[in-house]
Amino acid sequence: MNYDVIIVGGGAAGLMCQHQLSDKHLKVLVIDKNSILGKKLLLTGNGRCNVTNRYSPQEFIERIGGEQKKFFYKAIHSFSTEDVVNFFKTRGVPLKLENDFQYFPVSNKAKDIVDVLTKTNEETIIHYEEVVQDIKPHQTQFQVVTNKKRYLTKHVVIASGSSSFPKTGSTGDGLIFAKELKIETVPFYPAETKVYAKMIEKLSLQGLQIPNASVSLLQTKHRQKGDLLFTHNGLSGPVIYHLSEEIYHSLAHNHKAVLSINLINITKDKFIHLLYESPAKTIESIVAKLTSKRLASNLFSSFQLPKKPIQDLKHETFNQIYEFLTNFHVDIDKVEDKTLAYVNGGGVKTKELHPSTMESKKYPGLYFIGETVDLHGPIGGYNITIAFSTAYLAANHIKENYDA
Ligand SMILES: Cc1cc2nc3c(=O)[nH]c(=O)nc-3n(C[C@H](O)[C@H](O)[C@H](O)COP(=O)(O)OP(=O)(O)OC[C@H]3O[C@@H](n4cnc5c(N)ncnc54)[C@H](O)[C@@H]3O)c2cc1C
Repeated sequence: MNYDVIIVGGGAAGLMCQHQLSDKHLKVLVIDKNSILGKKLLLTGNGRCNVTNRYSPQEFIERIGGEQKKFFYKAIHSFSTEDVVNFFKTRGVPLKLENDFQYFPVSNKAKDIVDVLTKTNEETIIHYEEVVQDIKPHQTQFQVVTNKKRYLTKHVVIASGSSSFPKTGSTGDGLIFAKELKIETVPFYPAETKVYAKMIEKLSLQGLQIPNASVSLLQTKHRQKGDLLFTHNGLSGPVIYHLSEEIYHSLAHNHKAVLSINLINITKDKFIHLLYESPAKTIESIVAKLTSKRLASNLFSSFQLPKKPIQDLKHETFNQIYEFLTNFHVDIDKVEDKTLAYVNGGGVKTKELHPSTMESKKYPGLYFIGETVDLHGPIGGYNITIAFSTAYLAANHIKENYDA
């Protein structure tokens, strides 16, 4: 069977690509392993799907990884966060802004997003529960082999995702196809996830949150501000998700990753002033007011900090405790596995692709889009937007071949 386009994977990227192609009456085949499309999309944002955010193309680029900024320039300018909002609005699924930057469907249903993306024309065929196993050039076309059939097609779009949440069908196959074709790749690794630390296990702080904590990864320039959550065996929350990728690299390269956490959001002068104001109290009680009783009592007991009244302590002790609380060190042992991370770094190296089309430089007619590409952002609607923008570029480039 011959096709104009075969799309491997019906996730965020593959579905947006087929949707963008659907106005051209091409023979398009979407192949997905699952019995439903958009299986991961349905899980996103806790079933509500944080589709995009309010950032301008420039702001968006500034917030994604270093080397990827230049590569993503054309994609985000071609299909921006504003375009995503309008795309769904004009198709009957308006989005609403939350937390001052994230967009979710007004209905709070990820399914509404999937329903828009799966609407298509009569020429588009969808094969469910079919696994693509091999892709190779065949004369002027490509041969796509699945567990069921062999197809020929003029264009192949690989939108098979990463290795994150393999139960959704994303099992890292894009990298296998790329490697077979001698296209350079970076192995998938965890990003946007929690971390493990043995020292936290001893503190019994599970469930405790520190809003807007400043956290830095020692011996690097990486620091983030955001909500921090203690788990029974480590740390989680947005601030940790943002740093997790750098923590992973630090552990891989230096076999060490130490976080410095500011547990009390207060200047030294103010802290000392508070102590002098209540000489008969303990520092623990002051810290309890600044944070929580549970955190203060845990820290003062676990680290044997002085429990005498403030008036019986030296000024130097105040400085030492301030330093301890604002530069609280946590030795990280491990980052969550890539299969459980919300997002994966790694993928097809961006230097292998044309940034304005996502087409392979080595194989004209072959495209990589979405998380299969070594391109990702933090949590907050960045990754679905990246999937959409890269899909838009590939679809437009394919359509150009049929213009005129
Ligand atoms: C729990 C969770 C919540 C998230 N929440 C958000 C959020 O709210 N906002 C946000 O921006 N991002 C979020 N993300 C990240 C976002 O979901 C992904 O970045 C995005 O889905 C990537 O899209 P994709 O199309 O590249 O890959 P996927 O959505 O993973 O789709 C890949 C598809 O390819 C299919 N496939 C793979 N290999 C083959 C093969 N060999 N043959 C046939 N089919 C194949 C799979 O079955 C799958 O359907 C979340 C991720 C997770 C895991």
